[in-house]
Amino acid sequence: MAQLAALEARASALDSELVRAQTALDDIQREVSKAEADVQLVRARAARDQSRLDSGTGSAKDLQAIQHELESLRRRQSELEDVEIEIMERAETAESEVARLTRDREALTAELDEVRAARDAALKDLDLEAETVARPRPDTVAGVGEDLVTLYEKIRVQSGGLGAAPLRQRRCGGCQLELNNVDMTRIKSAPADEVLRCEECRRILVRTAESGL
Ligand SMILES: [Zn+2]
Repeated sequence: MAQLAALEARASALDSELVRAQTALDDIQREVSKAEADVQLVRARAARDQSRLDSGTGSAKDLQAIQHELESLRRRQSELEDVEIEIMERAETAESEVARLTRDREALTAELDEVRAARDAALKDLDLEAETVARPRPDTVAGVGEDLVTLYEKIRVQSGGLGAAPLRQRRCGGCQLELNNVDMTRIKSAPADEVLRCEECRRILVRTAESGL
């Protein structure tokens, strides 16, 4: 089923993108922790210098040296805080990227579940149809039954297992393509016992109550 294969390919691409985005976010979060630790060290050192200054112990020369160090620590702290802000902004961007990809992946999972359920339902129906087609009722016009079985078998082998498909909402249940108006009109006027074929995939089309006729 082409639709399912396309969705599965998109899901696997999205999974890789998600791993890449999550790894990038983890790296940035480590940078954030390191930047925070750097700022913390400078703050602690400045606090110690400040309390030595406040205590007023030591020579005038010592106190002047501490004063100088405090000034350079303040500059250093402000530089480190700028770096920290820049990293945190990057972390925010990476976080929203991960959130966006996660939402996309969840939506895709729901879509995949729906398509898989529809496919399973169609396959179940097809099993029933196949049984009906493969075992024609005895009152079928002589000869037609056997021809139909042969045709069904031939198509089944050619189309990879599904020889017949239900016609639903104007779509062939085999190739999922919508029938054009010309084909729909022809099918509408076809006798009930005529063997109908999908013009696209050549499968036997089985009319259903939901065919859209
Ligand atoms: Zn078809």
